[in-house]
Amino acid sequence: MDDKLRIESRLAQIGSQEDPATGAINFPIYNATAFRHPKLGQSTGFDYSRTKSPTRSVLENAAAELESGDAGFACSSGMAAIQTVLTLFAQGDHLIVSLDLYGGTYRLLERIMSKFGITASYVDTNDLDALEASRRPNTKAVFIETPTNPLMMITDIEAVCSWARHHGLLSIVDNTLLTPFFQRPIELGADIVVHSATKYLGGHNDVLAGLIVSKGVELSAELAILHNSIGAVLGPTDSYQLMRGLKTLALRMERHESNALAIAHYLLEHPAIAEVFHPGLPDHPGHEIQNRQSSGNTGIFSFKLKDARYVEPLLRHIRLIAFAESLGGVESLMTYPAVQTHADIPVEIRNAVGVDDCLLRFSVGIEHAEDLIADLGQALEAARAEIESL
Ligand SMILES: *Cc1c(COP(=O)(O)O)cnc(C)c1O
Repeated sequence: MDDKLRIESRLAQIGSQEDPATGAINFPIYNATAFRHPKLGQSTGFDYSRTKSPTRSVLENAAAELESGDAGFACSSGMAAIQTVLTLFAQGDHLIVSLDLYGGTYRLLERIMSKFGITASYVDTNDLDALEASRRPNTKAVFIETPTNPLMMITDIEAVCSWARHHGLLSIVDNTLLTPFFQRPIELGADIVVHSATKYLGGHNDVLAGLIVSKGVELSAELAILHNSIGAVLGPTDSYQLMRGLKTLALRMERHESNALAIAHYLLEHPAIAEVFHPGLPDHPGHEIQNRQSSGNTGIFSFKLKDARYVEPLLRHIRLIAFAESLGGVESLMTYPAVQTHADIPVEIRNAVGVDDCLLRFSVGIEHAEDLIADLGQALEAARAEIESL
C-alpha cells in the first residue's frame, strides 16, 4: 500500500485492494489447503496452506508493513509466535530477558526451552550495567517487553537494541501492549517484534492469534522455515477475524488510552489505593522514555490497594468490569496477577518485582470512562463497608 498514507488509513484499508478477481472490499477467506500448479515447475505462489495461504498472507503483509519490518508470520497464538522465535536458538544458547515478563513466556522458557538447553537471565533491561553484567559468551539475544505487564516498567528500546547490536545479539521485542499504532520497535533498532494478537490487535476477546515481524532478508528466511516447519500457523478464518479487528485499531487505542488515564487519575486520589503504575503519569520512572519512544499509552495499568483484604470483595462487587484474565479487548477486564497470570512465577521472584497480593491489573475497555469510574467507586465502597463490618 502507498506508504505515504498515515497509519489510520492503512489500518482501515487492510485487504481492501487485494482481491482483483472480484474487487471484494474485505479480503475473502480462502479455506483451500492445496493449490493447483499450472504446470511442472510452476506455482501460483501458493502450494500448501501451512507454508503460505492467501488470507493469512494479506494479514502477514499488513503486519510487516505496520511494524516497518520485512516479513510477517501469523501464528495460532502469541505463545506459538514466541515459541517459533525461540527455536532460532540452539542448545547451549543464553538469552537476556526482561524482568516482570509475561507469565506464559516465563513458563515457556523455564519449563520447555530449558529442556533443550536454552537458558535465560531475567534482568531490568533498562539498566545497561545490569545487561552488561548478565551477558555471557553464549548469550545470543535480548528479549524485552515494554511496558511490562503488570508493573508497567519501561525499557529504552533504542538503547537496548544498539547495545545488543554492538555485541552481535538479536533484539526481540514483545509489542503486545502498545501495538504498532503507538510504538514500532523495528524503527528503533529491533530485529524481531512479536505480538499476542489476541489482545489489542484483534481487540474483541474473540480470536486467539500471534504475529511475528522480522527485519532483514536472512533472518526473515530463517523464520519462514521455522514457521512452516513447526506449523503453529493461523487459520484462514482467524486471519480474517484479526484483519477485521485491525481495521479499527486506531480508534480503539485512542479510547483505551484516554479511558485508562482518566481512571488512573481517579484511583490516584482514592483513599483505598496505595500506588498506581501508569507510564502516562508524570512521576512514573519510565515516563520520559515512554514519551520519547511511543506516541501514546496502552489501556492497561495496575494499582496496589493499601490493604489486601480489599481484593476479594472488590472483585466480587465490580459489575461493568469483568473479573477475567486477558487484556486488550473492548470490554474492561480486571485481573489479579498473583493468582492468575503470574501463578507460575515463584513467589519470591513475584514479590521481589512487586507482583504481590495487593496488586490488581486493569485492562480498560472502550466503555465510557465515567461509567467505569462509577463501577470502581461502588465496588471499592462496598469492599470498605464489608471490611469495616468484620
Ligand atoms: C497474552 C500475551 C502473550 C501470549 O499470547 P497468547 O495469544 O495468549 O498466546 C504474550 N505476551 C504478552 C505481553 C501477552 O500479554
